[in-house]
Amino acid sequence: MDKRHFLKASGVFVASTILSGRASSEQQASTRTNWAGNYTYSTDRLDLPKTVGEVQQLVKSRRPLKALGASHSFNGIADSTGDQISLQYLDHMLVDPTSRTVTVGAGVTYGQLAPYLHGQGYALHNLASLPHISVAGACATGTHGSGNKNGNLSTAVSATEIVAADGEAVVLSRERDGDRFQGAVVALGGLGVVTSITLDVQPTFEMRQVVYENLSMDQLERHLDNIFASGYSVSLFTDWQNHRITQVWIKSRIEPRTSSELPAEFFGATLAHQKLHPLAGHAAENCTEQMGISGPWYERLPHFRMNFTPSSGAELQSEYMVPRDRGYEAILAVEQLRDHVTPHLFISELRTVDADNLWMSPCYQRPSMAIHFTWKPEWPAVRKVLPMIEEKLARFNARPHWAKLFTMSPTRLKPVYGRLPDFQALLAHYDPHGKFRNDFLNANIYGG
Ligand SMILES: Cc1cc2nc3c(=O)[nH]c(=O)nc-3n(C[C@H](O)[C@H](O)[C@H](O)COP(=O)(O)OP(=O)(O)OC[C@H]3O[C@@H](n4cnc5c(N)ncnc54)[C@H](O)[C@@H]3O)c2cc1C
Repeated sequence: MDKRHFLKASGVFVASTILSGRASSEQQASTRTNWAGNYTYSTDRLDLPKTVGEVQQLVKSRRPLKALGASHSFNGIADSTGDQISLQYLDHMLVDPTSRTVTVGAGVTYGQLAPYLHGQGYALHNLASLPHISVAGACATGTHGSGNKNGNLSTAVSATEIVAADGEAVVLSRERDGDRFQGAVVALGGLGVVTSITLDVQPTFEMRQVVYENLSMDQLERHLDNIFASGYSVSLFTDWQNHRITQVWIKSRIEPRTSSELPAEFFGATLAHQKLHPLAGHAAENCTEQMGISGPWYERLPHFRMNFTPSSGAELQSEYMVPRDRGYEAILAVEQLRDHVTPHLFISELRTVDADNLWMSPCYQRPSMAIHFTWKPEWPAVRKVLPMIEEKLARFNARPHWAKLFTMSPTRLKPVYGRLPDFQALLAHYDPHGKFRNDFLNANIYGG
């Protein structure tokens, strides 16, 4: 991996050269865009507190203010016209074996947390396609992996400490705070600055990953449930051409009776005998181990390896969640747009996510099929295709991924995110004067 890619993958910047309290202008210059480089932040000011006390002081004295995670979102969700605040120095991690939880500082990434947990004998229930993102940033947006029985990553949150607009630190927990807690987890950075998060853990486990090539859509139509139930986490990749899935990635937990044999065929698809990248022409070296080689959960659940560039780098992403039981219908609806989509697409990915009760989660009370698009960095063209996709998916009440690119109007978001009025009330409670509001929240949460 070259240095440019490492700096990019590391998300923010090199810690040893940080000036106390605020990033130097040179460092700020390197952080003024998001990871993909498609979004330029509106502010030069990035604060770097080292303690919760410093976070509280900053929250009291700054306005407007927005927490920034690892900058991997594709839109302005983490942007601010005032200050951004990075929690990267709050990087503690502590397992509590009694409650089977781990509490992490809000600066911790999954790439830091997962090996620590494994070393302690524990695992998370799931991971996204990449480990480079922060736990706080991922949970704030309902980030997910795949698996019929796996809720998104935010469903592991059992408690969260938030510095609210008045500078007070508030702890909300699943056990004590009921419905209010369900509203506070996928909070889009709107409730305040999360300083630590407690997550459920389970005993560590081993996994293996196998890839099959060329699954016909006709097989998918007949066997969709079996295909997505064939592993702990299953991802299908397609370019929407030729009525086929180009690659099927099956991630399975190794159980005592798991056979080491890998079937040569999977619903007519063929076992891959070499490691593959989901994007044609990209180095498979960046991907986690395949071909049935066993390894720890955190080196199989993501598609991409820590310290390597995930996905393409120069890209855009969009994703829509539809009800899983109408998944194939929704896939066919998007396929009709293939000649508009494919020219601007690196690849699409289809995953399943279990339902949850988190108000602003795209999977709220709905077992979901996630239809994802990794686009070439061609925003003028992509911007024209997104409304077509959204129109096709409207009859499925598709919910967009908050951290990716969408063009759905706020009036359309309101009916699909049914708890939006409750979320507005929660925001008003913790942030009555709109300190944590930004253009993204103004447009999408308050704009309807
Ligand atoms: C290559 C790539 C692959 C991806 N793969 C997946 C995938 O597999 N599944 C998926 O669902 N998504 C995926 N994403 C999207 C990604 O998971 C989300 O964008 C995620 O929110 C990024 O986390 P982050 O740490 O970069 O947060 P940022 O993008 O920095 O921030 C996201 C939100 O979190 C808030 N936030 C961050 N830290 C705090 C805090 N301490 N307190 C309060 N709010 C906070 C911000 O204000 C903002 O609203 C991918 C993105 C990329 C670039």
